Amino acid sequence: MDTTTTIAELKTLVADFIAARQWEPYHTSKNLAMSIAIEAAELMEHFQWVDKTEGQQSLEDQGVKAEVGDELADILIYAISFALQADLDISEIVRGKMARNEGRFPPGQG
Ligand SMILES: [Mg+2]
Repeated sequence: MDTTTTIAELKTLVADFIAARQWEPYHTSKNLAMSIAIEAAELMEHFQWVDKTEGQQSLEDQGVKAEVGDELADILIYAISFALQADLDISEIVRGKMARNEGRFPPGQG
């Protein structure tokens, strides 16, 4: 559950999985950046050729929702892997970017 799991716990889960398979040599910044984009494309496939209403309605199907969740999980796992490889603190980079977004996009600007 998001309310009880920390980012540190997810990082450990992913890092342990990678280490147990000795995948570190394959987890280069290039490969992980490409993998994030590839998984994002797999997520987009679920909404290709349907309008926004149909796309939203498709998520009411629990099977579709599970498949979409799997693709989102793939994206997040690769994003966590990238953060591990690049020694990036996810909380710091998200909070920093959101602070900059606050300045770029003030509330009430439409
Ligand atoms: Mg996938």
